[in-house]
Amino acid sequence: YCGMVAIVGRPNVGKSTLLNKILGQKVSITSKKPQTTRHRIMGIHTDGPKQVVFIDTPGLHIEERRAINRLMNRAASSSLADAALVVFVVDGMSWTADDEMVLKKLHHNDDGRKIVLAINKVDNIKDKESLFPYLELMATKFPFDDILPISATQGTNIQRILELSLNAL
Ligand code: GDP
Ligand code: MG
Repeated sequence: YCGMVAIVGRPNVGKSTLLNKILGQKVSITSKKPQTTRHRIMGIHTDGPKQVVFIDTPGLHIEERRAINRLMNRAASSSLADAALVVFVVDGMSWTADDEMVLKKLHHNDDGRKIVLAINKVDNIKDKESLFPYLELMATKFPFDDILPISATQGTNIQRILELSLNAL
């Protein structure tokens, strides 16, 4: 059996890096320049009889004033509708208006699917206790099914994301 996992988040939080790490190969372009990925990129992870299709879903943060943006947003939202699990990636160092926008879209699309918050780039945070206030803030924003500190570059907790993804099928 198979299912889809949508990786969402504003530009530059590490969605493409996470997808690459999960799949163990470079299928998605990562860049310091925000918004390099404007289309959806997917990769398939196979585990015995189970197959998970991961979709790197950019564009959910975009304001819908312009027609082209509404179109991109609709493409992103349609992956959400089909997802068994949503991985909402944020940067452990900052919470911005764009993150808030993505979260609002997740609310809108909510129909009972699980949403996991992945707080990325924790390798940048030397004093791990400084993450606690951020974690508390996140818990007040949405009843996430799980909150995981991760490092897409170092591979921290990536296995856990894979497990949650397989379990969501
Ligand atoms: P996307 O726009 O969300 O797809 O973000 P990218 O995957 O392109 O990553 C944006 C930048 O953040 C790149 O320079 C990555 O190398 C960097 N980055 C991604 N994940 C991590 C991480 O876990 N730790 C650190 N330190 N940098 C990361
Ligand atoms: Mg990307």
